[in-house]
Amino acid sequence: MAITPLMPVYPRSPVRPVRGEGVYLYGEQGEKYLDFAAGIAVNILGHGHPHLTQAIQSQAAKLIHVSNLYGSPQGEALAQRLCDLTFADTVFFTNSGVEAVECAIKTARRYHFAKGNPDKHDLITFSNAFHGRTMATISATDQPKMIDGFAPLLPGFKVVPFDDLDAALAAIDEHTAGFLLEPVQGEGGIRPASQAFMTGLRAACDEHDLLLVLDEVQCGVARSGTLYAHEQYGITPDIMASAKGIGGGFPLGACFATEKAAAGMVIGTHGSTYGGNPLAMAAGQAVLDVVANEEFLGNVRQMGERLRAGLEQMIPNHDHLFDSVRGMGLMLGVKLKSDSRAFVNYLRTRGLLTVAAGDNVMRVLPPLNIDESHIREFIETLSAAAADYEVPAAAA
Ligand code: PLP
Repeated sequence: MAITPLMPVYPRSPVRPVRGEGVYLYGEQGEKYLDFAAGIAVNILGHGHPHLTQAIQSQAAKLIHVSNLYGSPQGEALAQRLCDLTFADTVFFTNSGVEAVECAIKTARRYHFAKGNPDKHDLITFSNAFHGRTMATISATDQPKMIDGFAPLLPGFKVVPFDDLDAALAAIDEHTAGFLLEPVQGEGGIRPASQAFMTGLRAACDEHDLLLVLDEVQCGVARSGTLYAHEQYGITPDIMASAKGIGGGFPLGACFATEKAAAGMVIGTHGSTYGGNPLAMAAGQAVLDVVANEEFLGNVRQMGERLRAGLEQMIPNHDHLFDSVRGMGLMLGVKLKSDSRAFVNYLRTRGLLTVAAGDNVMRVLPPLNIDESHIREFIETLSAAAADYEVPAAAA
């Protein structure tokens, strides 16, 4: 039999982690890695954070799962806390990012349905977006590697160029329900939307009674230097998907909405067996205990600036390899002049973990509680690796 028991859908690297401690991961043979990938922006408190570990352990001993048919003191408490911290009036808990986006899409459609406009079901989405791997979320993107072989896709999505306000506005028609976008595209190559784009989409939503649906699965939960990235644009969404960092590594996602936008989400319209279970709620609370304060967020911004400055200073010394740096907070991308996947693979052999993204970008997504010593170690190792790296002939 040629197929592996683990369905072979990932190009898995030789890194085989079995233990983590702070910013470091350890492989089966004791190999040590500086983890500036953080499970693709998930482990925002690093590995084995004592407060998160303790919260999960003590809740696991008390109550792991109950049905959503019962009252949820744990869910109510976390939802209230998230509403107090954000634009939202209500939250639906999920187990992953893609489920949070699915809930966001359904909430947007139901809003117009509940208002008597069932034909307003289309979301305008953006090129190079990534919203997850369900049928709805792959239908919302134009990336062939996500959609090839999965036809027929779901109708109801119209993809236009990212950060092109004129194209987005021109796509509005009588079927439009709203816009769905990542304020900072992650898999697409760490591309922050421009201020004019975000402000323009918000204004168009207000003018035409459309919904602004943000996917902050990757850029949310302190990664950008504010609790959510949209705060830095001075706008609020109507609906937002959050996940990854929100559980610090425990599977947790959430769909946030204003009372108005959630008007259609009445009893029986949505559900999840596991979503909002007491164990996930304990993890979510523990993460917020650490990150939802100005001191932590200020440190993310400061470390983000230092890391960015370190990367920018390094570029002229390796300008055959690196092009530029982009991003927000500790969600940074280095654009390469050759294949970023090959370089990310090479860095692994030097004990550095980063993540490749579209547009030949190397994503730098460390835990958010790093200090200057980790940044120094990262930049020194990266510089030495860049000096030794031979760009593969085919990619040069
Ligand atoms: N949306 C964005 C912006 C993401 O980056 C991801 C995952 O990378 C998802 C949605 C899907 O999240 P998950 O893999 O948890 O389903």
